[in-house]
Amino acid sequence: MKHTLPQLNYAYNALESYIDAKTMEIHHTKHHQAYIDKLNAALEKYPDLQDKPVEDLLKNLNSLKVDDADRTAIRNHGGGHINHSLFWKLLDPANQKDEALADEIKNTFGSVEDFKKQFTDAATKLFGSGWVWLARDEQDKLHMHSMPNQDSPYLHGHTPIIGLDVWEHAYYLKYQNRRPEYIENWWNILKFI
Ligand code: MN
Repeated sequence: MKHTLPQLNYAYNALESYIDAKTMEIHHTKHHQAYIDKLNAALEKYPDLQDKPVEDLLKNLNSLKVDDADRTAIRNHGGGHINHSLFWKLLDPANQKDEALADEIKNTFGSVEDFKKQFTDAATKLFGSGWVWLARDEQDKLHMHSMPNQDSPYLHGHTPIIGLDVWEHAYYLKYQNRRPEYIENWWNILKFI
């Protein structure tokens, strides 16, 4: 079984004032699709791994019986696949506020505003390509992570809840070098905190 591109629940132009339709379309149909194609290629030699959820592959990456080059490809492209799958869901305009999560964020970071400030700061300062994450550890505690490339919190056994893609492909057409403006606008799309 091959991994396939998930459909979005909304149109590419649904976020237009914050993320333009062309960026959404290229990001989804080209960038995300490329991660899926390369993940499928990396798994070609390992039929027993093809049906496993990507989350499980990443959680157990070091113990997978695969070549080192394929392990790296699973990390990068498996990460790219599930990171983007979550990202599209986070941007869904139909999302509702999650009061329980907002309360947890308050308890962990002081206030939602403080959390947003810390998250924004990490996303602005992240050097090169990567993501900033809010993730849950095995004890259900919230953590913020700044991670390079397509590394997923699952690599550390954490479950991602919120992720911000700060690769240039996520914003360059509309914002060029203005990453802070993209980040500021991105908060307007997130509906659940
Ligand atoms: Mn991306």
